[in-house]
Amino acid sequence: MSEIKKVRGFQDIYGENAKKYRYVVDTARDIFQLYNFSEIILPYVEDVSLFIRSVGEETDIVQKEMYVFEDRGGRKVALRPEGTASAVRAFIEERLYAKGGYHKLFYEGAMFRYERPQAGRYRQFHQIGAEIFGVDSPVSDAELIKMVRDILDALGIKARLEINTLGDFESRKEYVRVLKEYLKKVENSLCEDCRKRIDRNPLRVLDCKVETCREVIREAPVLIDFLSDKSLERFEKLKEYLNGLGVEYIFNPRLVRGLDYYTDTVFEFITDKIGAQGTVAAGGRYDTLVKQLGGPDTPALGFAAGIERLMLLVENLPIERKPVVVIPVVSEFNIDALKVAEKLREKGIKTEFVLKEGSLKSRMKLANKTGAEFVVFVSEKPELKDMETGEQEQFDNVENLIDVLVEKVV
Ligand code: ATP
Ligand code: MG
Repeated sequence: MSEIKKVRGFQDIYGENAKKYRYVVDTARDIFQLYNFSEIILPYVEDVSLFIRSVGEETDIVQKEMYVFEDRGGRKVALRPEGTASAVRAFIEERLYAKGGYHKLFYEGAMFRYERPQAGRYRQFHQIGAEIFGVDSPVSDAELIKMVRDILDALGIKARLEINTLGDFESRKEYVRVLKEYLKKVENSLCEDCRKRIDRNPLRVLDCKVETCREVIREAPVLIDFLSDKSLERFEKLKEYLNGLGVEYIFNPRLVRGLDYYTDTVFEFITDKIGAQGTVAAGGRYDTLVKQLGGPDTPALGFAAGIERLMLLVENLPIERKPVVVIPVVSEFNIDALKVAEKLREKGIKTEFVLKEGSLKSRMKLANKTGAEFVVFVSEKPELKDMETGEQEQFDNVENLIDVLVEKVV
């Protein structure tokens, strides 16, 4: 029979990669805890209109990347392409705002986008992310950005921070008008997608990855020249706080994000080490989104980082202890050996009991495959072998052996 393969753009994460995945997630979780964020576990499936109304009708995500289907009850649902929309929906639906104050949430898990698969780009990928609801002060922007920097530092990942401000919707209107005019003039140099974007969503052109478009964009008018004093002041404050925290940044006046909901601050952490898929973490403020989705007027901001891209940049995993391997010399000692393994595990020692029966030689081969630190041979006169030094010691009973082993390992 023919083998069934995984679906294009999806992947199995196992072995060293699974360890890397866990290491990235655990490290991020530690930092989230340090900043006193609480976890929110969100559903993978949402009403499709949630993403249309938040991410934006004219975005690539909604236009061409979303997994949309009808469930058996005739509901039109989507596999979530990102986490913020769900977090906002939950914030409103669960009335989190009713408690007053402000709210700091983090999440982790799979996202789905129908994109062209390549290194660092999959159809199912995974993100860690965090959101802050209910604060408009730029101290919150600074703290969120610093938290992302801390996560990257903890993982030993170097990435430059680029920041920009998109201002409020009012000041953006005039810019959009001027930008449209400019883009119409250079229309012939733009890619097909961008030509369509001129009228529907001109800001998106600034985010295009096509080289010819990028050249045109370099000459385009910049948003910052059109911003209100209030937006500019806010941005100055943020920069002050980042300076105060010693967080280095590059001001990139052309940085926009691929989603519609951002206002004021946007930022990306970028590396050149993994080719075109260089953005490892990205985020910004979205002060109007909660209201737009039917909640109370609530300023908010957040970020998300792609776990697979972080994994590509993690060089050293923490060293893991090798197991102690327990081998019954002959099958008559199976029960004794199982009990030895049990006792070692009770002491918190990572233990492999060789599960396959067979000759001592074949079991020793299996022990070697697991990369044993010590091997315990269980028989009337049990023996302990140190795999590093090759030394082997015989004992009168397993109790004595375990005592000696615990001394060495714990
Ligand atoms: P890109 O410009 O690379 O497509 P994006 O702007 O679409 O990224 P966001 O929606 O801001 O990305 O998601 C945040 C992060 O999630 C990205 O910076 C990236 O690390 C990761 N990410 C996004 N799409 C994918 C994907 N298809 N596969 C793997 N990681 C992804
Ligand atoms: Mg994208």
